[in-house]
Amino acid sequence: MRVREYDSDRFDRMRRIDWLDIDRIHGSKCLVVGAGALGNEVVKCMLLAGFGNISIADMDKIVRSNMSRCVFFREGDEQKNKAEVIAEMAHNLCPETKIAPIVSRIQDLEDWNFDLVFGCLDNISARLHVNSHARYHGIPYVDGATDGFRGKAQVVLDSGPCLECGMNGSHMKLIDERFSCTGGGTVFVPKLASEITTTSVIAAIQVREAMKILSGRRDLCIRNVIYYDGILGTMECLEIPEDRDCPNHLSGRN
Ligand SMILES: [Zn+2]
Repeated sequence: MRVREYDSDRFDRMRRIDWLDIDRIHGSKCLVVGAGALGNEVVKCMLLAGFGNISIADMDKIVRSNMSRCVFFREGDEQKNKAEVIAEMAHNLCPETKIAPIVSRIQDLEDWNFDLVFGCLDNISARLHVNSHARYHGIPYVDGATDGFRGKAQVVLDSGPCLECGMNGSHMKLIDERFSCTGGGTVFVPKLASEITTTSVIAAIQVREAMKILSGRRDLCIRNVIYYDGILGTMECLEIPEDRDCPNHLSGRN
């Protein structure tokens, strides 16, 4: 059987979506912060969707309880660095994509030369750090979070409401408690419930929103948060107003 010419193009079926700009997605340089369950699923979708240049940051090591949700990890990978394993395994899925692991705390990252940043983190303080740096450098930020069968994703553009605008007093109290109870900033983060189906849904939403942004179609993006309830089978969007007291807007830049 002869292979039709269009079937030899890896991205042929994607090219049939008229607003999707495959070349811009391929030419983009993106940062994924966090190489746990969400980071694995986000990178999987990015590789299949043709993202050309991915940096992935995480200093954590793999433990066996990661295996139920992480497509790039294998039995025997325990104690290896999460970001390095993803970068190594990514070549099997898409050899053309350049993927670089960053093995350091996100707080130590100095080079913010990216077109878009994904947040795949498990704690609020790291999210807020990434949010404020992305905003400062004018980089769109797509944040994801899960808790059991529930999850949410938020699109933060280079203007308008940011992640911190949507935080309320209880979020901030949680951060205060985490940093005050240890006295030194070294904290114990309680592990949330997590399973792969909700992780997949939220990661897919994050990558889909990034594809809209990189294709120049911010008008199609969700505003600003989408909540997913996997028990009820519902999704709901919530618009967040810009908080005039938010420290990320006080410079007058945005
Ligand atoms: Zn804000």
